[in-house]
Amino acid sequence: MSENRAQHWADAIAQEVLQAQKQHLISTGITPSGDYHVGHLREVMTAEGIYRALVDQGAEVRFNYIADTMDPLRRVYDFLDPEVYADEVGKPLCDIPCPCGDHGSYAEHFLEPFLESMQKLGVELDVLYAHDLYRQGHLDTQIIMALEQTETIKRIEHEESRKEVAADWSPFNPLCAACGRLSGTRVTGFDAAAKTVSYHCDCGHAETAPVSRAGKLTWRVDWPARWHALGVTIEPFGKDHASRGGSYDTGTRVIREVFHGEPPYPIPYEWLALRGQGDMSSSKGNLVSIANLTQTVPPEVARYMIFKAKPLRHIAFDPGLPLLNLVDEYDNVESNNRNPRAADLALLKDWPPLGIPFKHLVNLVQISDGEVDKIAAILKRHDLPIPSREVLQNRIAYAQYWVENYAPPEARLQLQDTLPASTESLTSEQREALSTLANRLEPDMNGDDIHALVYSLTQDGDIEPKALFQAIYTAFLGQPRGPRVGWFLGSLEFDFVRTRLQEAAAAGV
Ligand SMILES: [Zn+2]
Ligand SMILES: [Zn+2]
Repeated sequence: MSENRAQHWADAIAQEVLQAQKQHLISTGITPSGDYHVGHLREVMTAEGIYRALVDQGAEVRFNYIADTMDPLRRVYDFLDPEVYADEVGKPLCDIPCPCGDHGSYAEHFLEPFLESMQKLGVELDVLYAHDLYRQGHLDTQIIMALEQTETIKRIEHEESRKEVAADWSPFNPLCAACGRLSGTRVTGFDAAAKTVSYHCDCGHAETAPVSRAGKLTWRVDWPARWHALGVTIEPFGKDHASRGGSYDTGTRVIREVFHGEPPYPIPYEWLALRGQGDMSSSKGNLVSIANLTQTVPPEVARYMIFKAKPLRHIAFDPGLPLLNLVDEYDNVESNNRNPRAADLALLKDWPPLGIPFKHLVNLVQISDGEVDKIAAILKRHDLPIPSREVLQNRIAYAQYWVENYAPPEARLQLQDTLPASTESLTSEQREALSTLANRLEPDMNGDDIHALVYSLTQDGDIEPKALFQAIYTAFLGQPRGPRVGWFLGSLEFDFVRTRLQEAAAAGV
């Protein structure tokens, strides 16, 4: 990899692979066994960054995604109905019924929202289904080669993993035509000329079937078989596959020694962890789905999150307040650490940044019930640029979704329609300060003016700043804390603010 630190990682990889050849196929793949979560985003987005960098450098490049629909259901996950799924364990995901009843298969059920999210995220990929690759015969050649060279593959497995490989081990897992399972079957023979495999199943069934219908290669052979059959030149994969003697190492030897091809350029990547909860995992349930993420932040921000860090750098994803900072970093609002090339690669629509921090918009949405006209009026009051209605509406929807789903309690606000009962506990000093504030407030004051006015009231020593802020927040929000006070009061209608301050000053008297 390039030593040039200023160069973006995707550009460095693109430059390096272009020295070998000009045409490239970047391949990705994830098993559709459950909800696709933000952790999975790294697989496809790492590839997307390199894809864009290659396109920018004039390469001929294709980008595919292989849905591992032939993988068996490993167990009855917590989110599955055991009554329905206990009997489906061991069957390929493409042959199992969908959990909701609206999809063609279990695999389709999880793939559909993932592929919709990919469209929203601006990722254009060719979707291939593993069961099609097999059943349409695209892997026939590799299956026969693997069966013919079973002893070579066993030796590679043994040398790389340093584990004993069973004498009857086969690179091929037959799919029983009678019971539909990949588990409990074993190869009993094959015929290279006839392209058939014979197998026996624990259910008692035995037959000789065409290789294209007879099952699938075991993972460590399936992967290099795809590289060879499709001509994959670049592939990102989770760091577990990159360990010494892991599936990339064995795959490299299998493609060279068995299929006589070359492995793709490897891009190992680090997992994406949910802050405080470890690596995201469907089985642990500690996940934010990609579909949820695309409702929470604009697609450019999700892309930026992955592009800004090198693939092997750890990313701790925190959907709370840090996610708001990420939006502002991408928008280049109040941020010093924006990565310009990552933002450039992330760009989709030529929409201008909103011009106000997303953190502020989250507050605005809460004090205006998310009404676009009210928010536009507030921006005007603050002399802030007013984006097009479409842009503003779009950002409001993200802010609302974040508030509903990920806002920590301290970020939640509820502007009270009537004077909160808690104002009765205000001290006489607090009430007096609110009264003075009401008298000195003027309609044309902006947030900075109001901020200066509030501070000036605390300078003659009659009231501490903290006590005055608490009184103001209590009067409007019914809680002792809130957003920056000048900005907050400046966001509200002048008459409303003055009246409420007067009411609060009179409360409990
Ligand atoms: Zn479904
Ligand atoms: Zn069977």
